[in-house]
Amino acid sequence: MSYRAPQDDLLFAMRMAAGGAFEAGGIYADLADGVAEATLAEAAKFAEGSLLPLDKIGDRVGAKFSDGVVTTALGWREAYAQWIEGGWNALAAAPEHGGLGLPILLNAALTEIWNAANMAFALCPLLGFGAIEAIEAHASEALKETYLAKLISGEWTATMNLTEPQAGSDLAAVRTRAEPVGDGSYRLFGQKIFITYGEHDLSDNIVHLVLARLPDAPAGTRGISLFLAPKFLPDEGGAFTQPNDLRCAGIEHKLGVHGSPTCAMVFGDEGGAVGYLIGEANKGLACMFTMMNNARLCVGVQGVAIAERAMQGAVAFARERRQGRAHGAAETSAIIEHPDVARMLLTMASYTAAARAICCETAAALDLARRAGDASRANEAEERAGLLTPVAKAFSTDIGNEVASLGVQVFGGMGFIEETGAAQLMRDVRIAAIYEGTNGIQAIDLVSRKLKLSGGGALRREIDDMRVIVRDAAATGDASFGAMADRAREAVEALGAASDHMLRAIDPRPQDALAGATPYLRLFGLARGATLLLKGALVAQRDNDAAERRIALARFFSENLAVAAPGLARAVIHGAGSVIAARAALGE
Ligand SMILES: Cc1cc2nc3c(=O)[nH]c(=O)nc-3n(C[C@H](O)[C@H](O)[C@H](O)COP(=O)(O)OP(=O)(O)OC[C@H]3O[C@@H](n4cnc5c(N)ncnc54)[C@H](O)[C@@H]3O)c2cc1C
Repeated sequence: MSYRAPQDDLLFAMRMAAGGAFEAGGIYADLADGVAEATLAEAAKFAEGSLLPLDKIGDRVGAKFSDGVVTTALGWREAYAQWIEGGWNALAAAPEHGGLGLPILLNAALTEIWNAANMAFALCPLLGFGAIEAIEAHASEALKETYLAKLISGEWTATMNLTEPQAGSDLAAVRTRAEPVGDGSYRLFGQKIFITYGEHDLSDNIVHLVLARLPDAPAGTRGISLFLAPKFLPDEGGAFTQPNDLRCAGIEHKLGVHGSPTCAMVFGDEGGAVGYLIGEANKGLACMFTMMNNARLCVGVQGVAIAERAMQGAVAFARERRQGRAHGAAETSAIIEHPDVARMLLTMASYTAAARAICCETAAALDLARRAGDASRANEAEERAGLLTPVAKAFSTDIGNEVASLGVQVFGGMGFIEETGAAQLMRDVRIAAIYEGTNGIQAIDLVSRKLKLSGGGALRREIDDMRVIVRDAAATGDASFGAMADRAREAVEALGAASDHMLRAIDPRPQDALAGATPYLRLFGLARGATLLLKGALVAQRDNDAAERRIALARFFSENLAVAAPGLARAVIHGAGSVIAARAALGE
């Protein structure tokens, strides 16, 4: 299935989130003078020309395991070499070790392009970005000196070793052990499962970040530490040639992302894998949290990426495929002429645009938290990023799944046949709702932690921002806006009522609040999505920037999708009791 990077839509969403143009003197000065445009254009060329053609072989042939060695699909090594040569790995990393330090907003836009073209390939650097951030923020100077430059250039790749058979969502159950040996290093013993790119042939060395417990560690999450364990250790001459005591025991056969090896890793078969502590002992989870927002955002962007590609494929097919006569047509019509097909396509397009807007807002909040001059602005931005991150991750990957499924539906029977590529997108995107914290866990995070930030202040600021947009839109009185300002207002007020309920319920009646967490997150995504598209419609109209299309999509979203908001609010406020009571219906 073909794909063209939506450069104009990406730039539009980026500018909206940045609050206007990229200007000298602003926090996005480094994107001014056409830098953003030129980077997106180059990325589009590389993704469409080099990554996209390898997507199918990755799916059909996939990564192979034999005798502890993992081989990626034909052409992937060459593509990875081009990835490094193009400097793509280094864009967002800090300049001290060879990064370009470009904003997270630009990285989010590029992440969409890479993942739309070839999600299984893009997963490798995506994990690496998280590891780089964790090392930058917490590792000793010696570790940074040894590992960062090669990780940032992409010459070496990195992994995140969190999951164990008994420890998935519940990392308190991690059992991998780390024993100090007295020279500042540790020996690691244990098994990890589902480790993305835990072993492969794309790079000469693989740097594993591993969660493990020290001998005297307290039980639970307060006793977990973070370690760095490379596949190859340095020899006496300093060259990384000495195999560490860690190995890949096999790779999983799975539903999608076949090109990405998902590895079972064994540490310490032969005396212990050499590892180095990152950050303080027993503070491993806190170290992981510093890069969690960005990593979760990137997974949300994967949802947008697959949604965009599925939508492009479905629209192209619907223009070609002729079946039946549309009302009033003299001859057979392209299926896009049928209102029900148009509804599916518009659902796909407007969900994609809404989720992209939410992801870009989240990225901009992360940038502002780092780049704002004064502390109180930075703090507010940090809270905003925290609040929006679970929504960006879960709403975007949920709609990624729904849009990919609609894509199969638009193709009809051909959608179920692998040749069209629609089915692969549906298989590939399924994992995005599961890893990096399942979407259920995101909803719990939103309700139990993020709503309470600053005593509910971050939430109130977000809802106030939505109300201002609705007011501005209502004031235009433009007929082309239809009822969208009214529908968006209803969505925002439904979110307001459900939020008040959640804030009242979460401490005294946590079971009630948790039972409504997932519909609450969806409601948040719909209200935020509707208002961001509405804001986009106003800006597009003012700037004459594809105004007709942007207004039509925003209007469709408010009048057809955001209308679910009041029903979701009812489920949040009144439905929890029936979740608790109806558990008996599931049997013993
Ligand atoms: C292809 C793939 C790649 C992966 N890559 C990596 C990787 O690189 N590194 C890594 O460390 N891990 C990786 N994972 C693991 C992934 O992060 C976990 O699968 C995920 O966190 C969920 O854990 P689990 O599978 O144990 O499910 P469980 O935690 O058993 O969850 C099962 C269900 O129960 C729900 N649930 C669990 N606990 C709660 C709770 N407290 N409250 C409410 N609901 C709950 C979940 O939402 C889910 O629906 C990968 C997995 C896959 C399949």
